[in-house]
Amino acid sequence: MLLEDWHTHSSFCRHATGNLEQYVIAAINKKLNVIGLSAHFPYEILKEIENIPYQEYSMPTDELDSYVFNAISLREKYKNQIAVKIAFELDFVEKQVEKHHKYLQKYSDQIDYIIGSIHNLNTSFGLFAFDDFRFLNYYDRFEDTDEIFMNYYKTMQAMISSEQFHFTTIGHFDLPKKFNILPNNKELIMEEEFKALQLAKKRDIVIEINTSGLRRPIKEQYPSEEIIKKMYNLGIDVVLGSDAHHPNEIAYEFKSSIRLLKKIGYKRLAHFTKMAKTYVKI
Ligand SMILES: [Zn+2]
Ligand SMILES: [Zn+2]
Repeated sequence: MLLEDWHTHSSFCRHATGNLEQYVIAAINKKLNVIGLSAHFPYEILKEIENIPYQEYSMPTDELDSYVFNAISLREKYKNQIAVKIAFELDFVEKQVEKHHKYLQKYSDQIDYIIGSIHNLNTSFGLFAFDDFRFLNYYDRFEDTDEIFMNYYKTMQAMISSEQFHFTTIGHFDLPKKFNILPNNKELIMEEEFKALQLAKKRDIVIEINTSGLRRPIKEQYPSEEIIKKMYNLGIDVVLGSDAHHPNEIAYEFKSSIRLLKKIGYKRLAHFTKMAKTYVKI
């Protein structure tokens, strides 16, 4: 079976260990067919980011060239051993989409896919980095944590509906559960999740099975089995992503994830080349 990891980081991201080549070599050693390099896109082009430590979230914009050129040279160097795919994990922040565009255009003929993710929510007290443990004390500012879930899924619906936001894949779909916080009103939140799934299907967006959740307090992949079943029923395509922040985490728990996907009914995984989707069998 061909294993492909579509979500990895590196020292370019400032909070991950190991350079790009170390990730590529780790993937070759694990006999992967694909290693997707998906660095966090620079935050510094965004406005009103003063209250988040964005310098620790991604490379500055003046390193974009070096990231892409480094990835291109690795793609060439190891082309007989592995397919190196070039990507970004792009943060969706409402009303700030067109800025990404200007920078991304330069690399458009090199990019294989883009992960659209939400790590920050607009709130009355500014941007809230809800998945950063340093912001856990902010959770007390909400009367009910369901407000966070609602905000998150409304933002996700806006991301999927945004015509200017070009992306192929939704990253860590149910991320707000990371710290083992689950919705109080499960039905209400599930309704919003389902709306996001329907929009994703309509736009032919792929959803990743992100195994980093298994390394977090929630101890479960993103999204939950319940959501993956709904995705399967809607005919939504999937890829696997480890969200590795260390070369050792490449392809983390992929075999058990493939077992889960097969149990649900999935027979193939998506694969991207220059933003075009094909499939590999599982
Ligand atoms: Zn990261
Ligand atoms: Zn992420």
